[in-house]
This record gives sequence, structure tokens and C-alpha cells, in this order.
Amino acid sequence: MQPSLEKLRKFFRLEAERGYSNDAIIGGLAKMLDYWEDEARADGLPETLIAAVAARLRDYERLSPKSRKEALTGLWQRIKRETGLDEAGSVPPTRSSAPRPRKAPRRTSHQHPGGLSPDQPAALDAPLTVLPGIGPRNAKRLEALGLRTLGDMLYYFPRRYDDYTQLKPIKDLWYGEQVTVIGQVRDIITRPIRGGKASLTEIIIHDGTAALRLSFFNQPWMANRYTVHDAIVVSGKVEQYLGRLVMNNPDIEPVETRHLHTHRIVPVYPLTANVSQKWLREKIASVVQFWAPRVSDPVPESVRQGAALPPLSEALLQIHLPDSHESLQAARRRLAFDEIFYLQLGVLRQKQDWQSAAAAAFAVDDDWLAARLDSLPFTLTGAQQRVLDEIRADLSAGRPMNRLIQGDVGSGKTVVAALAAAIVTTQGAQAAVMAPTAILAEQHYENFTRLLAGESAEALLHPREIRLLVGSTPAAERRETLAALEQGEVKILIGTHALIEEPVRFQNLQLAVIDEQHRFGVAQRAALRQKGVHPHLLVMTATPIPRSLALTLYGDLDLSIIDEMPAGRQPVKTYVLTPAERERAYTLIRGQLAAGRQAFIVYPLIEESEKSNLPAAVEAHKRLQAEVFPNYKVGLLHGRMKADEKEAVMQQFRDGEFQVLVSTTVIEVGVDVPNATVMLIEGANRFGLAQLHQLRGRVGRGGGEAYCLLIPEHENAAENERLQAMAETNDGFLLAEYDLKQRGPGEFLGTRQAGFSTLRMANLSDVALIEVARQQAESLFATDPGLQRPEHQALAATLGRFWRQGQGDIS
Ligand code: ADP
Ligand code: MG
Repeated sequence: MQPSLEKLRKFFRLEAERGYSNDAIIGGLAKMLDYWEDEARADGLPETLIAAVAARLRDYERLSPKSRKEALTGLWQRIKRETGLDEAGSVPPTRSSAPRPRKAPRRTSHQHPGGLSPDQPAALDAPLTVLPGIGPRNAKRLEALGLRTLGDMLYYFPRRYDDYTQLKPIKDLWYGEQVTVIGQVRDIITRPIRGGKASLTEIIIHDGTAALRLSFFNQPWMANRYTVHDAIVVSGKVEQYLGRLVMNNPDIEPVETRHLHTHRIVPVYPLTANVSQKWLREKIASVVQFWAPRVSDPVPESVRQGAALPPLSEALLQIHLPDSHESLQAARRRLAFDEIFYLQLGVLRQKQDWQSAAAAAFAVDDDWLAARLDSLPFTLTGAQQRVLDEIRADLSAGRPMNRLIQGDVGSGKTVVAALAAAIVTTQGAQAAVMAPTAILAEQHYENFTRLLAGESAEALLHPREIRLLVGSTPAAERRETLAALEQGEVKILIGTHALIEEPVRFQNLQLAVIDEQHRFGVAQRAALRQKGVHPHLLVMTATPIPRSLALTLYGDLDLSIIDEMPAGRQPVKTYVLTPAERERAYTLIRGQLAAGRQAFIVYPLIEESEKSNLPAAVEAHKRLQAEVFPNYKVGLLHGRMKADEKEAVMQQFRDGEFQVLVSTTVIEVGVDVPNATVMLIEGANRFGLAQLHQLRGRVGRGGGEAYCLLIPEHENAAENERLQAMAETNDGFLLAEYDLKQRGPGEFLGTRQAGFSTLRMANLSDVALIEVARQQAESLFATDPGLQRPEHQALAATLGRFWRQGQGDIS
């Protein structure tokens, strides 16, 4: 047995003897990955197997002992199978032979580029230097594109395609067209230009209908490449020079050769310095033509059939070298399916892992809860009540809660979280609440204190039992808070990411609440969770994601939706104004200011190169203060300011030191300024509807009339129609659906929503495909949750790779 396997066996045994408590190795089994992967590689273990081991061990810590046992035994069986360790001389099963492509690969006769046996599983991990024509220097250049191995090339998808399938007679060509023509060379001329500093080569071709001039700047060798009477295929853009049609630097190929660059749908790849399109296309094509038909398809046949997908081989071939628009479409669908499917499988596995752990149960009786609700300053809405019931059930179930509360801005998520904290702390345990900014944390601190604490005997908590911890908390206070936290005297700790920085230690953390969860990365959420042993988790978001999407992206969390606003909340009156009507907006604002109210004026972030390198808000601030609102104080807030400066300005605005706040979008997240009644948004066309809706949610929080005024940059009918949706509804979910249809998910989720970067093919607005992938993943998971069956081994390995590429960033 290879030494690396020997080690695995030893530690797996030890781990079993210790009841899968993850202490066979100090620091946990995952620690052995520090060296094991290299050793395994040195022993020549297949790359897929190494990946599978690494994936399992990395996750190991998070598993319950039961799942750990399954993970290790499953893994070991697989190792035995794949390395032929099985005694009894049984031949390890040969790798499932690659699915036969529906079509014969275009050219299989030539020597395959890698010079590696296709049976060798690691072949696709071979470096690009195995390809003819790629030495260390080219390899270095390709690395800039993220291309290191043959497999990388196979999955380096075209950025777009040029369609050269429509051959045209030369006499029918139009200026500006992108076309392919076939013709015979009539004449070749090279002459010096610019006083001999450069040269121009012209090739004249004729196709029987007319002649066409091809120009090549400074490429004298073109003159030697072709001779008169050669038949060539030419693809490029038709341009005009002195009244005649020409093509500048077109792609040319002799008619006989494979029409790789011409007369077909041609892939166009993203490039980097010193890598030409044609060269890269050739290299990728050679890899694809040989390897695509040979990859084995990790997605089981049953799933493929269920979702009507072409085989992976076919999809990889067609995505690079499509035969038709239809086959390209099918290939895209297949590759997009894979991404969603893997995403979903990982999410389901995560959910299962979490649910297999035991957690402390917190049950409260009806009387206790009724008393809590009685003491609130308002009655819960039906939706709040329902979500609270769901949380109550979760907390008493003995398994860790993993719940996402989605609720529009102002729907009242905070009070629900506070009640959850009440349930946990009333039974002696601790709760943590983490918010993305200090000002939000402070707001929560005030709300929680108001809702749960008091000096009187019947108050649930003493005010000292709720504490705030932010970056600016003074050292002495911090020390005292942390000590009290460790002693269990503090019951609820509210703060920013300061909470997850050492040395914050809880005595018994049983509930972790995360507000505006999309602002935190996975690691940060995990870090908060780590402060306790399988604590209950409640995350909250105001980003309204349509249900189908939410199920896919956050499928590891149970979803609660607060879809009802507190009674008496008036919709914010929303108007779309033209730029010419700006003065009307100012008049309305002056009226509100005169009545003692406050206003936000928001500007979009505009590319630096346009005009000046300051945010538009900076210039506007000067003008607004001097010319538009000279009798009021106008504050300024933008992203270039330091965090504490921003906080200070926000605080001053909340305290009424300014009447108008001019800002970029940094105010987006849940800050409450109940006295603000106007939100004026300039350049409104640059924002997604969901984002506009978030901004609008900043006003109207104090009851009474509030206004949102949208001013686009131009009078543009289509844009303004989109904005008009804002005037028509105050429902964030409707707006999100609308946005999703119009602009795609990247736009409405915003760039901060991490984790989508490696979904290269999947378009999250393709709800039908998402639904299919989700169903397939669920039924597969239902039959073989651990992906232990032999026919699912390839899938398990692929899944491990997929999640390591950053997919895990999703929830
Ligand atoms: P969000 O869901 O955006 O975080 P908040 O929890 O900040 O919303 O609640 C917005 C405002 O609505 C707060 O001032 C809160 O006190 C108030 N509120 C919450 N629930 C109710 C209710 N059921 N009835 C009346 N007001 C409520
Ligand atoms: Mg909130």
C-alpha cells in the first residue's frame, strides 16, 4: 500500500476508535491535508480521488459523528475500489467508459494533443505544455487566463460567437456586414507606405459575381502565403475605402481545410496580452476535439434523461464548436444545468449535515409568550406571528435551527429576532446579534433593550444583560463586557464583526442572529456560529429574492417570509420626474423641511473617467448647499470617506444636525431615521429596482406621508417605464421579479452578493431550468444522500471540485 494511503488508513482507524470525535489528529482530521495531498500526488494517486479525500476531510469537522462515520467508511471503500486495494484479487472496476457521443468526433484520426492515455484519469490535469506549440512562455501567458491544464481549456468557454454560416456572393455584400465569402485569388500586391516605414499587402479575390479587396497592414508574409488561383475562404467585416468594399485583416483559410475559423459559428474567447484569437482557438479546438468525446459524464444517466440533457461530451464539443444555433443552445443548457445541479446538491448536503447535529431545545409555553407579546408596543402582524411560530417550533426541536427570514424593508424583522432571543435567554442561554455596520448594531441594541429589558422585576432582562460591542467600544468597557459575557452575565451581545474577532468568548451561545446576511461572507457567518456548539441560526435579509431563486441559493436554510407590513404603514408616494422637473422636487423638499422633516438626496456612483474623479454627490453637495437649500444644513456622505467618518455623519443626520443628507448609495442598509420623509434619487435609471426599493425604504419609517422622487438622467421612454413600476407598487417582491426579468440576477442581487462568480453558464433568471435542476438534485439526494453508490462516485468527485472553486460562498 502506498504510504499516503497507509496514513489515511491509520488515522481513519484511530478516528473510529475514538468514536469519530475528530481528535485522531490534533486540530482535526482536516489538518492532515496540509501535507497529505502532496504525498498522495507523489504516490501517483488519481487526482479525482485526491480531490474526493480533500473535500471530505475539509468538511469533516462540520459533520455529526454519525455522518463522519459514513463519510470515512464511504471514502475508504471508494479508495479501495479505485486503487485496486480490494483483496481477493478482484479487478477494480474499470472507469465507466466515456459515453459514446451521438456523433463521431470531428477528427479522431490525428494524434491526441496530450500524448496521454485517455484511460489515465489524471490526463485532463496535465499541464498545457504537453500540447505541441505550447512551451513555458506560452503556458505563462495562458496562465493569465486561468488556463493551466487541459481540463481548464475544455472548460474555457467562448465569450461570444461569430456566425459565419451565411455565405454570400460578393456582389451582394453590404458595408458594415460581418460575412464569409469564398473566392479565387486574382492578384497579390505589396507596397511600402508611410515612406517605407510600413507595408500594405492587398489580395484581390473574385467569386464570379464581383471582386473584393483584402488589406493587410504590415504583414508582408501574407503575400507569400497564397498564390494566384488559390481558392480561399475569407471571413471578416466589410468596410469601405474610397468607395470600394474592402476587408481589413480578415481571417483566411484555404478552402480545403476544416473551416475552423470560417464558414461556421466561430467561438470567440476572452484574450490576454500576446495571445491571439486564432492561435488560442486552434489550441482549444485541438484539446476539445480530442478530449470532449472522452470525458466521462459525472451526471447519472437517469438525471440526464429526466432533464432532457445532451451528454457532457456533446455539450463540451458544441459549446466550443457549435454545429448550429440549436446545438449551441442545448450545450449551454446542459452546462448551466450542471452548475445549478452541483450547487443544489452541495446545499442539500450542507442542510443534512446541519440537521444531523443535536442542539439544545428551548420550549416556552403559551402563557409566557402571550405575556411577552402583551408587553410589546404594538401587535404583531399575521406574517410576523407566523414566522415567530416557525422559529418557536425550530427552537424546541432539538436540532439546530437554520432559518432565513426574508422580509421587505420595514416589515418588522427585528422584533421577531428579539423574541427569538427572549426565548433562548429566558432559559439561561446566550444570544448574539451581528449587523454589518456600527450604526445598525446600535439601532438593534436600542430596539432590543426597549423590547426586552427594564429595571422592574417583571422585565425579562436587566439592561446590563444586553450589551453592544463595536469597533469603537472603549477598551475598558470592552474588557468588562467580554468578562461578563464569559461569566454568562451578559445574555445578549449585539455588535458588528467585532463579535467574531477574538477573544470574544460566550459562556453558552445558543442563538446566532445575523442581520442583512448578504453583507457577510460565509466565513464570517461560520465564525459566529463557531462561538457556540451547534447554536441555532437565524439570518435576516431585506433583499427580496423570488421564491424559486431563494430555494436554490439558500436551500440549506429554511425560509420564512414576512410578506405583510405593519398596519397603518402608508406606502411611500413615488413619482418619476423628468430632469426638467427637478425644481418641483426641490419645492416639495423645501416644504417638508419647513415642516421640520428631513430629506435624503442620493446620487449614483459614476465611473471616474466621466467628468471628474469625485463622486457626483460631492459636487452636487456644494451646489445644493449654496444655491438650493441655503437656509438649511446639507450633509455629505460617500463611499470614499472612512468608516468612522461615515458613521459620524449618519449619526448627526439621525440626530437632526442636518436637514438634508446628500449621499451615494452607502445609506442603503437598514438605518432608521424616522424623521426623514423625502428620498430624492438622481440618475435613477442607473439603479436596479430592488436597489431603488431599498433606498425608498429609508423613508416613511416614522408614520405619516413620505415621498420618493426618481429623476432619471434623460427622458428615455423605455427606462422611465421601468421606473414607473416603482410608482405603481411598494411591493419589493414584485419589483424583484420585474427586475429579474428585465436585467438578470447579477443586477438585482448586486455585486456584493458573493458566490455567483463561478456560475459561468447559469443564468439565474432561467427559472424553468433552475426548477428542473433543483428537482433532479432533490430526487437524487433522496435516494443516495452520501453519493455512496458506485454509479455516483464520479459525481461525488466533481461535486467536491465544484464546491472548492468558491461555490461554497452561496449561503
Ligand atoms: P426591518 O424588517 O426592515 O428590519 P424593522 O424591524 O426595523 O424593519 O421595523 C421597522 C419599524 O416597524 C420599526 O420601527 C418597528 O418598531 C416597527 N414595527 C415592527 N413591527 C410592527 C408591528 N407589528 N406594528 C407596528 N409597528 C411595527
Ligand atoms: Mg432591519
